[in-house]
Amino acid sequence: MLAVDNLGVRYGNLTALDGVSLSVAPDEIVTVVGANGAGKSTLMRAVLGLVQINSGTISFDGQDITRLPTFKIARKGIALVPEGRGPLRQLSVRENLVLGAFSRAWDAATKADFEAVLDRFPALRPRLAQTAGTLSGGEQQMLVIGRALMSRPKLMLLDEPSLGLAPLIVAQVFATIEAVRGMGVAVVVVEQNAHAALKLADRAYVIENGRIVLEGSNLLGDKRV
Ligand code: ADP
Ligand code: ADP
Repeated sequence: MLAVDNLGVRYGNLTALDGVSLSVAPDEIVTVVGANGAGKSTLMRAVLGLVQINSGTISFDGQDITRLPTFKIARKGIALVPEGRGPLRQLSVRENLVLGAFSRAWDAATKADFEAVLDRFPALRPRLAQTAGTLSGGEQQMLVIGRALMSRPKLMLLDEPSLGLAPLIVAQVFATIEAVRGMGVAVVVVEQNAHAALKLADRAYVIENGRIVLEGSNLLGDKRV
């Protein structure tokens, strides 16, 4: 579904990504783990056309998206949940979800997706009228993921969704990510929190200094149950 091939990105004379290749199949949860500064955000941003690509190609559903503008990439069905950006805190939970559908008409299909998101994330339903800022950290992350689902993506990219959350909340957020896959959406989750991410993912890549140094489906050595 997503194929990144030999991607190179430089910021001035700093090489942020050096020959990075990665693939994601439909319905798959893939994780990219690596230390701060390894190039994880750059990789996510490059897929969405948010940074200039110096070499290599990115294709999605068999189409070359390497030099498309971000809005066209988003329209093909890729949603990015950026790091540390929560919901709009002054707006209600309902308004936040509706905003996620900004590029769509508010028609029967969109309303059905709204209901489907609330069915998947039942904690949000009784809070629809509340302002988003009154939700717990885990619920806010759930709301941001729900908002991204309202654009009906085929692939969701999540940049460090567990950052700054307590371990119990991280488990909730990762359960939320499982639920996203349950809706037929493929997921790439980028994490410094390697252990939790490796347990969640079907397949993992390890990135170091802008290069993929390891790829595998059982990097923890203990089979998923
Ligand atoms: P990660 O997400 O793994 O923390 P990043 O992709 O943010 O890594 O950064 C990779 C490298 O590129 C780091 O050395 C970072 O400082 C640098 N970098 C990131 N964004 C920019 C930018 N806009 N301009 C210059 N350097 C950047
Ligand atoms: P992350 O940890 O996800 O990589 P950062 O905090 O490093 O995020 O980056 C936040 C923003 O600052 C991004 O837009 C990134 O491109 C930019 N940035 C990161 N490092 C640098 C840098 N060395 N010089 C300029 N901009 C940077």
